[in-house]
Order: sequence, then C-alpha cells, then structure tokens
Amino acid sequence: MQNTLAIIKPDGVQRSLIGGVITRLEKNHLSIIAMKMVYMTKTQAEGFYAVHRQRPFFESLTNFMSSGPCVVMVLEGENVIARYRELMGATNYEEAAEGTIRREFATDIEKNVVHGSDAPETAAFEIGYFFNRFEIVS
Ligand code: UDP
Ligand code: MG
Repeated sequence: MQNTLAIIKPDGVQRSLIGGVITRLEKNHLSIIAMKMVYMTKTQAEGFYAVHRQRPFFESLTNFMSSGPCVVMVLEGENVIARYRELMGATNYEEAAEGTIRREFATDIEKNVVHGSDAPETAAFEIGYFFNRFEIVS
C-alpha cells in the first residue's frame, strides 16, 4: 500500500472542477483517506514547491498556488503514486494523453488543475505539509 498527495489547484476550484476530478478518482478506484480545503499564503506555496526554487516558473507558480483555495487530499492504494500520475496526464496538457484529467480540463501549462506527488519520499513530505495523522483515515 502506498499514499500520495493530490491537490485540486486554484484554477480547478475556481472553475467548479472539484466534482469532476473527484469523480475520476472514484471511477479509477483511488481511495481518498483525507481531504480539506486550504488557502495557502505565498510563503506556504514557496515551502510546498521548494524543490522548484531555482526553476524559471517558480515565482509565477507560487503566485498562482496562493491565488485561491485548493482542495488537498491523501490517496491510498497499491502503486497509487504512478496510477494517479497516469490519471493526471503530462504536466503540459497539450502533451497529456486522451482521457486524462489534464487533457480534459487544463487550459495552461501552469494552470493544469491538479498536482500529484512523484515519488514515495516527496509523497511523505507533501502529505506531512498539510495533514497530521489524526486527519488521515486508513
Ligand atoms: N510548471 C509551469 N511551467 C513549466 C513546468 C511546470 O508552470 O514549464 C508548473 C505546473 O503547474 C506544474 C508545476 O509547475 O504542475 C510543477 O512542475 P512539475 O515539473 O513538478 O510538474 P508536475 O509534477 O505537476 O506534472
Ligand atoms: Mg511535480
């Protein structure tokens, strides 16, 4: 069993895509074991995306992520990190496979609706960034 952090980003919340994303998670048997809304400050968004601090898109990305509320979730399942990343699709929605969340809903390489952890170590950091153990059911 594996856990991963999923986020419906501010564009997804603002565009009323919470239900559409969660429906896809449930249809694909990705179990939600924690969920809440957060409205990150710029500093909190910078901490979450600290691995990207040197990247040219960091400033814009952290402004975007602190521009409105997000839905943050913990997903659980076998091989869930890779399974959820496959369901999300490529970072650039134009390169995302048909049927993926980003292909269906995203409008922009930055405003790409969803986030997912990319490895067990990043999943542990990202889950701990938002949730304590009493907020996660298992
Ligand atoms: N991003 C961007 N421009 C880029 C690459 C990434 O604006 O050229 C944004 C986009 O919102 C992406 C996030 O930065 O989801 C984190 O980038 P990463 O490479 O980790 O992509 P992801 O893991 O989200 O697919
Ligand atoms: Mg990433």
